[in-house]
Amino acid sequence: MSEHPLELSARLIDTGVIDTQPNRITQELSELADGVALVESFSHVVLVDTGEGLVAFDSSGAQSGKQVVESIRGWSDDPVHTLVYTHGHVDHVGGSRAFAADALDHDRPAPRVLGHEQVIPRFERYEQTRGYNVTINLRQFGGAAKTAGQLRDFPFLPPGTLRPDVTYEQQLTERIGDVEFEYNYCKGETDDHTWTWVPQHKMISAGDQFIWNFPNCGNPQKVQRYPIEWADSLRAMAAKQPELFVPAHGLPIAGKDRIAQCLDTVATTLDTLVGQVLDAMNSGATLDEIVHGVSVPAETLSLPYLRPLYDEPEFVIRNVWRLFGGWYDGNPARLKPPSDTAVGTEVAALAGGVDKLIERAGELSGAGDHRLACQVIEYAVAAEPESRAVHETRSNIYAARRSAETSLMAKGIYKSAVADSQEALTGEAPPLNMVLNIGDAVD
Ligand SMILES: [Zn+2]
Repeated sequence: MSEHPLELSARLIDTGVIDTQPNRITQELSELADGVALVESFSHVVLVDTGEGLVAFDSSGAQSGKQVVESIRGWSDDPVHTLVYTHGHVDHVGGSRAFAADALDHDRPAPRVLGHEQVIPRFERYEQTRGYNVTINLRQFGGAAKTAGQLRDFPFLPPGTLRPDVTYEQQLTERIGDVEFEYNYCKGETDDHTWTWVPQHKMISAGDQFIWNFPNCGNPQKVQRYPIEWADSLRAMAAKQPELFVPAHGLPIAGKDRIAQCLDTVATTLDTLVGQVLDAMNSGATLDEIVHGVSVPAETLSLPYLRPLYDEPEFVIRNVWRLFGGWYDGNPARLKPPSDTAVGTEVAALAGGVDKLIERAGELSGAGDHRLACQVIEYAVAAEPESRAVHETRSNIYAARRSAETSLMAKGIYKSAVADSQEALTGEAPPLNMVLNIGDAVD
């Protein structure tokens, strides 16, 4: 058995020393309190025994749902009375078909499903943007364009995913068996989040409003995120003075003071970042000035629950700009810009040929100036998209850049650029092991 998640979280938070990864996908069930359990998966499933069946928060993803249900059945044979979707991301709802299959095996009705009313339009949007979602998620996890093209009809929402039976608008309180549940709506990572206060256990199910990573609040390829409401929701949770705090990724946390400290730190970090961006916008700064002028202190980013390993502050800055501003970044050349081909061709001619750009891009990359190296090689590829020499250097430059980055989102996009150049060189997209797991790997 793995170290108990509450002991591990206390150790990581109290010492600040990260000797074990907090995001564990063990499929193991741990009891967190009498009648409360957690299965650590992607996403986790949180369980509360009500005496009239289990309430489960999230169903995990399509690939992990079956194993999660097996772990639950090693703990309790009770029916799942209600499945609460903390939000509609597929790694939280895709396992619901395994819960339905388990009910069928036991001759029981499928669980009642509860979620915020915005979960339903989210599912509709996934159908409207099926091909786009496959493309961006492949890119996020390092796939090539060719692979994405082949998968454009891949059903983004796993077939058999249960739809919500019960929805609410702002807040809903109900008693199931012996236990009261207070469901609260918030925005943050998504526009359809539910966090739940369970007074009997002084417990909060937080969904993805706390992920043991820098908040997924800037995601470069995805719809708007809401950092201000995200911080507000963490403060609303803290006001309940929870003694057990259970997010859908990472570790559960016990202890009133420890939880209060974590929630306040994340909320303050988001509020400060948003405040700095807004101040700069109000003073007339361009997006470029803000991206290169605003940052989060390194000591904050080294906290065990705020490391920029998934998303990162630079992307959140852009997301705040998008939230309050338009898409225009303040540089008049980019209001109605020339095509990439026109820019690349012009720059190559000025430089004295694409070869010069390749050479310079390689030098910059070797010197560690990855931002400039990538820009120069993009001029070259725009000027001569069929050039093998360009793609050979481009592939190396993005591989080096990927190694220098911390966040999965940046690493994935740069790896995808490597894959695209490899595809241009060989005519074959590199193999991608996670293609069939795409429904699980999305957040
Ligand atoms: Zn998630």
